[in-house]
Amino acid sequence: MWSLADFRFDETIDAAEVYLNRGDGFESTARDEAIAFAHERGANLVAWWPASSEAGDPWCIVAKVSLPLRWEQIPIGQSAVDERLWFDAPCGKRDFLVGSGNTFVGRMAAWCPHQAVSYNVSRSEMGAMSEESRYFVAGFLAGNAPGYAVDADGEIDDADLAAWRAATDRFRRTGFWYGRWGTCQVCGCVLLPDTCDDRCHEHSTVDV
Ligand SMILES: [Zn+2]
Ligand SMILES: [Zn+2]
Repeated sequence: MWSLADFRFDETIDAAEVYLNRGDGFESTARDEAIAFAHERGANLVAWWPASSEAGDPWCIVAKVSLPLRWEQIPIGQSAVDERLWFDAPCGKRDFLVGSGNTFVGRMAAWCPHQAVSYNVSRSEMGAMSEESRYFVAGFLAGNAPGYAVDADGEIDDADLAAWRAATDRFRRTGFWYGRWGTCQVCGCVLLPDTCDDRCHEHSTVDV
């Protein structure tokens, strides 16, 4: 999600021209003219999403802004633990999956009712689990896997694509994504980025 620090309106929109819809669709408009248009309507000119260098002139909307800038506030619901999402946990008892870990790829949020602590857990740290938990984990890992590499022209290298397929396939089974470069200490090939091993699959049982 974006930071409020990236919110831009009126003169903080750093562009000479913006795109603005004054009734007939979005058209390129001088920024200062667009600001005047917004102010005449008792509102401000707001950049619709954070600027990126390659995206060109910002797209803007007319909307009221009050200072100091602040986020909308909503009541935070106490989401109940779903007891069907149990698994045999590192604590030795049954804990519950409650969401995304939001830290490293593959990490899920869990709740231990015995010690009353929230923590993050990976697939490989979970023992037996309910059928509901198995599908929770499968869905989470499918959505959480990193995307494949695309070059500046939008092209995908065949070898990169094959490696991505293999790495994400293994990730869906292990739930582990190392995210660092490594090489096989036997043959010197570059390892798929999900593993922290120092041997490739072919040489995983060979003594150096
Ligand atoms: Zn526990
Ligand atoms: Zn090897």
